[in-house]
Amino acid sequence: MNHTASRTALLVPLIFGCHAAPSSTAVSSVTVGKPAEDARSDTAQARRVFEANIDAIHKRDRARYLSYYLQTDQLARNGPSGLDLGFADWPARRDSTWPDTLVARDLRLVPVAPGMVYGTYHYRVTQAGATSEGISERVFVRTPAGFKIAVSTAFGLPEGAAPPPVTLLGGTLINPGAAAVSNASIVVRDGRIACAGTRAECVPPPGAERVDVSGKFITPGLIDAHVHYSQTGWVDARPDAVDLRAEHPYDSVIAALQRNPAPFDRAWLCSGVTAVFDVGGFAFTIPMARAHERSLTAPRMAAAGPLLSSRAHWLNLPFLQQFIAMTGDSIVRATVSGLDQMGAGALKVWYLQLPDSLQPQAREMLMAAGDAARRAGLPLIVHATQLPRAKEALTAGARILVHSVDTGQIDDAFITAARRNGTIVIPTLTVREGYADVALGRSPAARYPLECVDAITRSKLERVIPEARRTRLLTVARGGVWDRQRPTMELNLRKLHEAGIPIAMGTDAGNPGTAHGPSVYREMEAMQAAGMTAREVLRSATLIAARAMGRDADIGSLERGKHADLVVFDADPSADIANARRVRMVMRGGALYGRAELLPMAR
Ligand SMILES: [Zn+2]
Repeated sequence: MNHTASRTALLVPLIFGCHAAPSSTAVSSVTVGKPAEDARSDTAQARRVFEANIDAIHKRDRARYLSYYLQTDQLARNGPSGLDLGFADWPARRDSTWPDTLVARDLRLVPVAPGMVYGTYHYRVTQAGATSEGISERVFVRTPAGFKIAVSTAFGLPEGAAPPPVTLLGGTLINPGAAAVSNASIVVRDGRIACAGTRAECVPPPGAERVDVSGKFITPGLIDAHVHYSQTGWVDARPDAVDLRAEHPYDSVIAALQRNPAPFDRAWLCSGVTAVFDVGGFAFTIPMARAHERSLTAPRMAAAGPLLSSRAHWLNLPFLQQFIAMTGDSIVRATVSGLDQMGAGALKVWYLQLPDSLQPQAREMLMAAGDAARRAGLPLIVHATQLPRAKEALTAGARILVHSVDTGQIDDAFITAARRNGTIVIPTLTVREGYADVALGRSPAARYPLECVDAITRSKLERVIPEARRTRLLTVARGGVWDRQRPTMELNLRKLHEAGIPIAMGTDAGNPGTAHGPSVYREMEAMQAAGMTAREVLRSATLIAARAMGRDADIGSLERGKHADLVVFDADPSADIANARRVRMVMRGGALYGRAELLPMAR
């Protein structure tokens, strides 16, 4: 779902050439201080035609839609594919397909001469999984049959271009670590925050679109600092947990993940998440992160790429590895150097508990990885859940620990080392609940809402796998070790938090039962239940998570100059983090979406 020029060119004529498109107008702009319009004026008459023209598209009323156009040789329609003149052949040549949604905002009219009115609006259209937006124009002329459209154009935003400026007015602004600002004004221009503060401080630019968000709560976009785009949220990408490869060949599953991450991108935005940190997977996640950064329909993304592992893992493809066994110093250093050259955002090490006899060698490799990462300037991310292993990770210079220590209470030495490193800890409390759901044949719907999850993933999550296929996982789940470890994880979270160690929110999404997107609600609620306040959880899920990604200079809070990534909620998430489920609008890079617009597309 990138805003590529070719897609824009393909899509734009559809808005006008098709005879139908359903409406999706969850975001409506308000015109503040608009002078009263005389109902008989040219502008008022043209406005009625303009609105009826768009309404006819929403209602899929082809005859009425065409009736608003000048039905002569002078009708001019223009777009990226060139000028098209005359009405006669147009209805016959129109494309028979139409967009899934067309959102029209910021309708403006200017009387340019008696009997002639210029109009423009900001459109966004979604078609076959691709979304594009841009500016469309009309020239209305007076005829004996009333005002008609004589000129119609539509031009998509070029890739990388920001949507037109917009101001959000009247909501409560909640920035991490700052007092809330009621009746706030957030001015967005060129995809960035131009001003965020009181209405006196942040005056909307004249002429720019204004959206009334009175009674709503605005926070920076949520950030999940622990995800895996190399996993689906179900067992088909984890045959090591439950092996369904006969039905879901692993290479096909991975190929699909690489080919089409869009359903997950959409689920993230739909859930209010505007950035994710992919902390380990196949190498294709690295260019995927770059593409996501340019897109307005995907969360921003940083990616670590393939992981170094303290033991060989078979979850690779013959031609593509996501786990690279640390069998020697040279392979460790070559991997770090290669990842650095490919543009990886971090180095991830999967540091496991091995038999005693093998641990010294693994420890040596971890230290080599830490040294190589430091030389390359890559932040070191370590998966280590046993206290001694996690301490070794800190010794190696880990900047991020992606899991809680679950084998026992952390001690002062651990806290001292974490503080010295400036380590950020991601507690990842709820990922095992997902595995337990799969093991016990439960849908995760009891833990988090599934509306944002695409139909295919949802049907997998709601499917009960035959018990014979999940025996091994069921034995672990029923054994109770996960239940016993959870209080330890929560206790360690409290200890770290009280000691001032920065905590970032991360779900481990992609793992079975942990869906990309809405899993953040369950994780944030678990952090609150473990003893953090809602405001602290919100900070962990915005500014601290941005810092974990190395992106806190440009995301994570709503301040002048930062990217305009934000969420508008119906209820205050800083009073109770459960209110974060009540997403109303999401802005990514200045593109404002109503939540309804971000729900999964029908397939
Ligand atoms: Zn993970």
